[in-house]
Amino acid sequence: MDIKKIREKFPIFKGGDGGKRLVYLDSAATSQRADMVIDSVHDFYSRGNASVHRGVYELSERATGLYEQARHKVAKFINAADPSEIVFTSGTTESINFVADAWAREHFKEGDEIVVTQAEHHANLLPWQRVAQRTGAKLRFIEVDQETFFLKDPPKDLINKNTKLVSLIHISNVLGNVWEEGLLESVIKRAHEVGARVLLDCAQSIAHKKIDVQALGVDFLACSAHKMCGPTGVGALYIKKDLHDAVEPYQVGGSMVHDAEYETANWQPAPMKFEAGTPAIAQVIGFGAAVDFFNEHVDFVELHNHEAKLCAQLVDGLNSIGGITILGNQCDMKMCGHLAAFVVDGIHAHDVSAMLGMRGVGVRAGHHCVQPLAKLIGVEASTRASLYMYNESEDIEVLVRELRDLIKTFKEA
Ligand code: PLP
Repeated sequence: MDIKKIREKFPIFKGGDGGKRLVYLDSAATSQRADMVIDSVHDFYSRGNASVHRGVYELSERATGLYEQARHKVAKFINAADPSEIVFTSGTTESINFVADAWAREHFKEGDEIVVTQAEHHANLLPWQRVAQRTGAKLRFIEVDQETFFLKDPPKDLINKNTKLVSLIHISNVLGNVWEEGLLESVIKRAHEVGARVLLDCAQSIAHKKIDVQALGVDFLACSAHKMCGPTGVGALYIKKDLHDAVEPYQVGGSMVHDAEYETANWQPAPMKFEAGTPAIAQVIGFGAAVDFFNEHVDFVELHNHEAKLCAQLVDGLNSIGGITILGNQCDMKMCGHLAAFVVDGIHAHDVSAMLGMRGVGVRAGHHCVQPLAKLIGVEASTRASLYMYNESEDIEVLVRELRDLIKTFKEA
């Protein structure tokens, strides 16, 4: 992978602000968009715009073709057994709420248990809190080891015959990797042994790791296109085929009906059953273009090596400043990270981030939508720098230089 060439495929890095370098270190929030993605959305609106599925004229048939091609592309990208296992949603958040509302709330009852980790993003915690409140099911947690920042191997009885769902973060948006070698696979296996279903939150991982739903053996997977160079407002929910009958439609309305009477209606098979209303057509086509971009230009092994090298530079650079605490397992971050959240002694994370922003460095501050974890580790706000395929060593050099200088200036004032 030639990083210079990759970077050229992202128009946002081509000059702009008086030729000043855009130091974008916030890809864990949203990635930049590749030219192929921007072009596909632009082309659709300028030359191919029509609604899908119902039209019997050429433009609509073409739009339907592109929309369904995107479903095939996403299915292949995560190695789903069948394209009908891919449902387009507005993103990870909607995908998880979909499973919570259309499956869990329909089937769970008092005494059932839902297992999540202490490192979940709110998107994979709040929907389960609500299911628990409304059905009487109980939430149980796989703990974070506060020394290593990895998840602890859960006690044998945590996943038991009452467990109905194990819903797991794949990569944390604050700590990075939280799974020690083999533990994720072991937890998935234990869940299946007791008859529970498994959901994997791939919001972060989809952009950095080759995902294979069949090899992982998950039943549901949630992801967002905007984390992997695609448009905002679109994502995917993978629902394994054997669950297609048990999962109800999340919404009902147009497009998904087989037959409707005044009093009742029944649905088409999946995926139509799960996609009521006019979908986000241009965004879905853009999602398909993002997959094309990955297939044509991204090698996951090389991406991993590139990010790990930059992450090691980032960790070493932050440590060289002094007075900075990095959250997460530094050894692991240097081997396979793509982000580092950190706290600067005596300066609030929002001030650090705002001051870096004024110096042209884009990073994120706050609890990063993992407030319970932030409280658990006693760090209510941190600054996060996150890396992607288009970042270069120079970005880290600028961050470290500006951070060192602003800390000095702040402390002198
Ligand atoms: N899960 C994780 C780990 C995330 O990092 C995010 C977003 O940052 C989400 C879920 C929610 O994703 P979205 O806002 O695209 O729905």
